[in-house]
Amino acid sequence: MNKYFLSIDQGTTSSRAVLYDDRINQIDFIQKELSQYFPSPGYVEHDAKEIWDSVIYCIKELLLKNNLSHKDIISIGITNQRETVVAWDKKTGIPVHKALVWQDRRTFEYCARLKGDGLEPEINKKTGLLLDPYFSASKLNWLINNLDKTNFSNILFGTIDCYLIWKLTEGRKYCTDITNASRTSLFNINTFEWDQELLKIFDINNIDLPEVKENADDYGETLLFGGSIKISGVAGDQQSALIGQNGFESGAIKSTYGTGCFLILNTAEELIRSKNKLLTTIGFKLNSKVSYALEGSIFMAGSTIQWLRDQMGILDSSEESEKKALNADLNSEVCLIPAMTGLGAPHWSPEAKGAIFGLTMNSTSNEICLAALEAVAFQTRELVSAMKADGGKLSSLKIDGGMSKNNFFSQILANTLDIRICRPTNIETTALGAAYLAALGSGYATQEEIVNFWKMEKEFEPQENLDKKFGIWQKYLESLIKQKI
Ligand code: ADP
Repeated sequence: MNKYFLSIDQGTTSSRAVLYDDRINQIDFIQKELSQYFPSPGYVEHDAKEIWDSVIYCIKELLLKNNLSHKDIISIGITNQRETVVAWDKKTGIPVHKALVWQDRRTFEYCARLKGDGLEPEINKKTGLLLDPYFSASKLNWLINNLDKTNFSNILFGTIDCYLIWKLTEGRKYCTDITNASRTSLFNINTFEWDQELLKIFDINNIDLPEVKENADDYGETLLFGGSIKISGVAGDQQSALIGQNGFESGAIKSTYGTGCFLILNTAEELIRSKNKLLTTIGFKLNSKVSYALEGSIFMAGSTIQWLRDQMGILDSSEESEKKALNADLNSEVCLIPAMTGLGAPHWSPEAKGAIFGLTMNSTSNEICLAALEAVAFQTRELVSAMKADGGKLSSLKIDGGMSKNNFFSQILANTLDIRICRPTNIETTALGAAYLAALGSGYATQEEIVNFWKMEKEFEPQENLDKKFGIWQKYLESLIKQKI
């Protein structure tokens, strides 16, 4: 009888359940979009009940469609949007407030105040993170201060993984994994514990905090699908993608090109403190051993192409960007700075706005598409340079996510980074990583076996360098940041 693994991939815009065979080949998936709530400027919320309902719907549909029962599933892996915070009633399981999503900036002033008090270096030393609303701690502080206190002792708080595990196990397990914990800004990445001083800084007291577990571990069992299914692997989305790219060894590096771009370098036991505004985070913990990672994020990658399609109307589909770029004048000096939502690493310039420079009378939408693809590659180059400056060593880069399907983009990435770009057959590595962890955690496969499950689809070797265009682009970027236009 065939056996399967099941991944829950709970993302920002949708939830998915993905089915794999016992060699972790993807068989099928069911996806459900999620409502996004923007109640005030800077506020971004999710309905945690809708998240839970979407997860249950996807799993049930997937099992039904493939004519499977709980007995066919070896175990479940979970990966999720990180930093988002949920509060729920432990008696009823019902969320007591909308979830505050990682993109939510409502605590901007609170964080600025803590920064003004000179607390960022201490927080950075303990967590590897910056003092920014992005991370969970200030959101948790906001929730605690804004919830009705009548039945406060009944309320549990957690990240999305923690909430899903609690719901799947019907309250038997209140736990999280170490990668999700490392994004809360309350978890000390030196001691691997919830940090009392950080809790004091963020004025968080009188609440329970979940047990922190390894990535391949016993997360209990769910009985909601007709019988017992184990949950044996959990990781935050970007760390899961690192696992999904087989990034187990020191120096392994992956870049995910979805809505944004997230570059993660495995630095193994070396905790590198970035001097270039990258984040230090926990890559994973397996077999009692922690591997650290350096992380850099770009806010707009695939969404730059989406913007050209939906806002500018110069593309019918994201795929068309490849054809248009191929028809562009490759000597064009048109440059695009995709700072429509500010700039992430290594600039962290939230007030920056997007711009197109270098237009001439013969510029067409083709040159703008070329500039958009180059802009994402150039931003990656900045992250890679920051990682190298921080002591990271890399000789090739594994890519994944929707935009990595674009061959032209993958080639200019190889050209501008001057390293080999590797694209796997399965570019949905976030869900794949959770399936790998489930296989490890259930004892079904060893790490050596997992490594052999991963398959390369295509490699891109550097051909010509793009230094001249990068130089022009960088000058435009610098002028934009300096002039604050
Ligand atoms: P997410 O998981 O963040 O929703 P995906 O990994 O599904 O993102 O990737 C979707 C993004 O990739 C979209 O923003 C889309 O514009 C972009 N994209 C998809 N295919 C291509 C392509 N062939 N060329 C360029 N961008 C693409």
